[in-house]
Amino acid sequence: MSAASRPEAAGICPVSGTVGQNVGLLTLKALLTGKALRRLDGIAYRFCAEPDCDVVYFDRDAGSIFDKSDLGVRVGLKESSDPIPICYCFDVTVSDLRTGTDVAAMIGAEVRAGHCACEVKNPQGSCCLGNVSAALARLRAAGSV
Ligand SMILES: [Zn+2]
Repeated sequence: MSAASRPEAAGICPVSGTVGQNVGLLTLKALLTGKALRRLDGIAYRFCAEPDCDVVYFDRDAGSIFDKSDLGVRVGLKESSDPIPICYCFDVTVSDLRTGTDVAAMIGAEVRAGHCACEVKNPQGSCCLGNVSAALARLRAAGSV
């Protein structure tokens, strides 16, 4: 069967209908609580980035879903009150962005130094710099920085 004929629904969050980003099993193993980890039975999970959706990971083929309460860390994209983690590797929250420090430059330098561990620290399993840029743009638009 060609990839094009596979049902697209597999990539869509069963609750919010948001297209999920692929995320590796190692990320789930690192961030799920011990209790949740015992329910891990999918192999191809996706991350739901919809802010209002409690679902964090889903594998529809396996009928497996993990929500915010199944993670040991707060999912910054889904939180609206402090602390809102934005860079998990270097402990940056959205409130740090308001201080005027060049957080993006600091993170960039640490990434270049090979210090990041996004795969096991960031619930998205990928680099946070895109989220940092987006959050800064939102704060600037709101006149907060
Ligand atoms: Zn969702």
